Amino acid sequence: MLGFGNRLALVIVTGWLMMPSPALALGDSGADGQFERRDSFHFILYQDVDLDESSGLRGSRHFEQQILQELEGAYDRLDELLNLRPERKINVYVWDAGIFAERFQGLFRFPAAGFYGGAIHVRGDERVTPALIRVLHHELVHAAFDAEAPRLELPAWMNEGIAEWFEARAVGKRTLSGRERSILAKAARQGALFSLDDLSARSFGGFAPDAAAMAYLQSYGFIDYLVHAHGERRLNQFWSAVVRSRSLERASRRAYRQDLGDLGKAYLRSLGAG
Ligand SMILES: [Zn+2]
Repeated sequence: MLGFGNRLALVIVTGWLMMPSPALALGDSGADGQFERRDSFHFILYQDVDLDESSGLRGSRHFEQQILQELEGAYDRLDELLNLRPERKINVYVWDAGIFAERFQGLFRFPAAGFYGGAIHVRGDERVTPALIRVLHHELVHAAFDAEAPRLELPAWMNEGIAEWFEARAVGKRTLSGRERSILAKAARQGALFSLDDLSARSFGGFAPDAAAMAYLQSYGFIDYLVHAHGERRLNQFWSAVVRSRSLERASRRAYRQDLGDLGKAYLRSLGAG
């Protein structure tokens, strides 16, 4: 799951522009590159999952309505938790799983369930599963950051860390699981944690699968640490200050009264690293 503004995004955006315009290719059959379009208040949904029926509980219409309902719920939560309210409608593509893999998997070194590249793209399913709901929440954070500060280059630990934290919060998970904690503690003991600098790449897209899993977890852990040590409101202030000042350092001093480097060190110490 990626939110990136690096050259991968250009590849994807270009690829997307070369596709037949979804708006002109509205069909009813699914999984043929012809997208069904459906609008809600804040989103335009295009979906191409191969569903047998269009009506009924297992039909495409119900599926689309459910996805839009989840997205609108996520929009409200984003406002509550991060004070973000993208004004322009966000385009969301729900791809047939096979087509998604064929078209996009080569762009990442690890299996991706979705990404943001000017629009939200997710690998679809035949039902709205908890996994799909998480991915939608995750990618919405990237979309909202992009809408709020289009030319701001965020480090991946912040972009991905907040996206991971938000998707976890969305399903009621308020902190790292015991298993996640023990993975981080073990890496800390082995000296295998990334430095904040390592995690400041624009995206983790080029990381090998194990390294990417660790980078996402460590980034989520950092945001979780900030929230538990200093409160959700400060995270909100931090993010707003980043947008206003365009400086992570200044934002960190403003929201946390500490240098970013010191916050990073305190987090590593909390994991048992020296
Ligand atoms: Zn992401």
